This record gives sequence, structure tokens and C-alpha cells, in this order.
Amino acid sequence: MFQVNENYLKLPGSYLFSTIGKKVKAYSEANPDKIIIRLGIGDVTQPLAPAIIQAMHDAVDEMASKETFHGYAPDLGYEFLRTTIAKQDYQDRGCKIEADEIFISDGAKSDCGNMQEVFAADSRIAVCDPVYPVYVDSNVMAGRTGEYDEATGTWSNVIYMPCTAENGFVPELPKETPDLIYLCVPNNPTGTTLTRDQLKVWVDYANKVGAVILYDAAYEAYIAQDDVPHSIFEIEGARTCAIEFRSFSKNAGFTGVRLGFAVVPKDLKCGDVMVHSLWARRHGTKFNGAPYIIQKAAMAVYSEEGKAQIKGQVAYYMRNAKAIYDGLKEAGYEVYGGVNAPYIWLKVPEGKTSWDFFDYLLEKAGVVGTPGSGFGPSGEGYFRLTAFGTYENTVAALERIKKLV
Ligand SMILES: *Cc1c(COP(=O)(O)O)cnc(C)c1O
Repeated sequence: MFQVNENYLKLPGSYLFSTIGKKVKAYSEANPDKIIIRLGIGDVTQPLAPAIIQAMHDAVDEMASKETFHGYAPDLGYEFLRTTIAKQDYQDRGCKIEADEIFISDGAKSDCGNMQEVFAADSRIAVCDPVYPVYVDSNVMAGRTGEYDEATGTWSNVIYMPCTAENGFVPELPKETPDLIYLCVPNNPTGTTLTRDQLKVWVDYANKVGAVILYDAAYEAYIAQDDVPHSIFEIEGARTCAIEFRSFSKNAGFTGVRLGFAVVPKDLKCGDVMVHSLWARRHGTKFNGAPYIIQKAAMAVYSEEGKAQIKGQVAYYMRNAKAIYDGLKEAGYEVYGGVNAPYIWLKVPEGKTSWDFFDYLLEKAGVVGTPGSGFGPSGEGYFRLTAFGTYENTVAALERIKKLV
């Protein structure tokens, strides 16, 4: 009789988004004439830029003739794309990263979730708290996280690094030594970034204790401040202790067409074994899940025309972020994020939980956001709003919120 992987059963269901869905449905049934504004969206809403669409059309046409047809993509991804990424995202920023250290994939979610497979089963993980749930969930399924405590919302074998207003949302070095450290910068949901000096502390620590930093830079394109590095490889020493994840989703709107990449430096070694050569064997596959058409589309993200167009999209979302940030400030809230990330993180008024505030905002203003407790135990008492709506709706939502005070 076959047995299932019981670690999957430990994963608490997607309580957060199903509960939000139920509450919103109940509210709209009770108030059919009220227009609900969603500021909890975790997906982009602007269409793909014209330069990207043109590149996709051209690539589709290539697939129609014998001379230019493409089958399975090469293992690491097409060289034209890896060379362009290595140059524009890394070498032009002074990072020593080569094209053969870049692995194209179908998105950062898969890479963030799958990377743990190349490390030992008894590796201990450390995560920022609150954070994007994929890091913990994928380790739960791999059986690394111990037992779940419902009362505290924590796993017994995970090292949590609380990021709260008290420490400026900057994680402190853990007291227990981890093997794998997940850093999400800019952070989803808090919008926090690390300066060069702050990141150097992490790189030095990881090299000292022999840990690997798994650096999720999915929101790199939103970084606006000069002292915030765009890549961990801008920091000296990172080549021996870090892996970086990038995505085309939030900067260029690829959430529906899927594309991302992982950077695994050849200097990252356990004894003689390069993590690079293990990742090259991932899932035993010979291809990477990213179609030729989409890899060609990604080339347009790096063209002058494409760069100008996607810059406009990021600016659109960041105008929303500013409207949310300023509006909440005006309404008297304690507000964070929104400067280097499309996320605004606010402190829920004293005496309310994240869910109380969710209900309050929905019932009084018809605005939907995301309770902070859904991103980890230290997210309790906070609330996330996102900049991915339309400008008109965003402004309208803030007008409603301001009227409540
Ligand atoms: C959206 C998101 C991703 C997922 O990116 P995809 O490339 O669409 O899979 C990864 N990390 C964080 C922090 C995200 O918010």
C-alpha cells in the first residue's frame, strides 16, 4: 500500500486567503450596492508592455517554420538571455557574476520553493518574520520544520527573526546558528530594505558560521534609494555564501507568462561540492520550464524601449504606494514601507488585532487589505496594503479611510 508524504498534512491550509474570500463574499451579499475596493492584491494589474508583446509575437512566428523552430530550451536557459542578465543586472553594477551562474526558470516562486532540495534534510532554516510564506511552507513539506504550535503560529524547528517597528523591521543575527537563511529584500510584506552596511553584516556572518543566504530580490526593480544594494552580489564575500532569486513578475508583469532566474555562484561550495552542480541536476530534468517565446519576451525587458516602458509601470504602482502612504499618514496611522517596494505596512490601532482591523476596514470603508498575522507571528498587530490597484481606486480607497477619523 502506498504511503503519502505526511509532511504535506502538517501544512495548515491557505487559511488566510480563503478567510478573506469568505468575509468579502458575506459583506458584498449583505451590501449589494457598496463597491468594494481591493488593496490586498498580490498580483500586478498593468498589461505587458508593447515591446514585450512585440517580442512574443516575433518568437511565436519563429516557431512556425522549420528553420527557426525551437524545442526544449537548453538546461540553464538560452545563452542570449543569460548573457544579457549577467551584464545588465550584475556586471554593470560591479558584481562578479558570469552567464553560466544564471539559471533561467519559470519564476521565483518555484526557485525559492525548490532550492531547499539541494541541502541536507536536517538543515536548520532561519526566516524573517513576517515574510512571504513560500520559504517556510516548502521546508515544512520537506520535513525540516518540526511541530506546529497553533497558539503561537510557529514551527518548533524554525529560527524566526522578528522584524517589527522596534528594530526598524531589520532582522537581527539569530542566537541559534542556522544552515540556511532566507532574506527577502525588499521585504514582502513590510517593504523594508537593507543598506549595504546592514547586508555586509549578514554576508560576514554567513561566511563565518558556514550558512547559505537565500536572497529573494523579487522586488529589486522598486528600489529607489541609493544606499540600498540591488543584489547581494554587490557585497564583498557574497560569492561564497549566497544564492539570489529574481523574477520578471513584479517589474515587468510576467505573473501570467512566468519567468525568473536563480544566481548560484560557483564559489558556493560544501567541501569540494559546488551547489551550482547540484542545482544543475535539479529534478533530473534537461530543461527549465521557461519556453523560448517567454525567454525572447524577457529580452525586450532589457531593450532600451522595453526598459522605458516597464519603468513607467513601476512608477505607476509607486505613485499608488505614495498615495496610500500619504493618505494613511494623514489619517493618523503609523505607516512603513512604500518607498522601495509596492507594499505599505501599517500598525493596527492599539487594542485591535490584524483581523479586527480587516473587519473594520471592510465594514466601515469597503476596503480589502491583508491581515499582517498571515505572514508570520510577528505580523500580528500590522496590516498590508498593496500598490497594484488602479490609481483611481487607490485614491478613492484612501478618501474613504480618511473619512473614518
Ligand atoms: C511574488 C513573489 C515571488 C514570486 O515570483 P514569481 O516569479 O511570480 O514566481 C517571489 N518572492 C516574493 C517575495 C514575491 O512576493
